[in-house]
Amino acid sequence: MVHHYRNVLEAEGIRAVVKNQYLSSAMGDLPPAECQAELWVLNEHDAMRAERLLHAPRADGPDWACACGERLGAQFTQCWRCGSFRV
Ligand SMILES: [Zn+2]
Repeated sequence: MVHHYRNVLEAEGIRAVVKNQYLSSAMGDLPPAECQAELWVLNEHDAMRAERLLHAPRADGPDWACACGERLGAQFTQCWRCGSFRV
């Protein structure tokens, strides 16, 4: 999963590395949370953008209805018809 996130970031030009990816197999005695892989953004200035990208609403979520009656896909945060933002 963490590799998928890294690919998403790299597609946007954000350099990131996966840490602890080999630890999980070496540290069988530790609880899983202790050796989970982590995703590190190399450039501090990219961190905010990276977070927004990874927490963006998923495009395959349910549609939403704007107050004006327009129906919009989950990937849109703003109505194209009246300009209202999703609430
Ligand atoms: Zn609208």
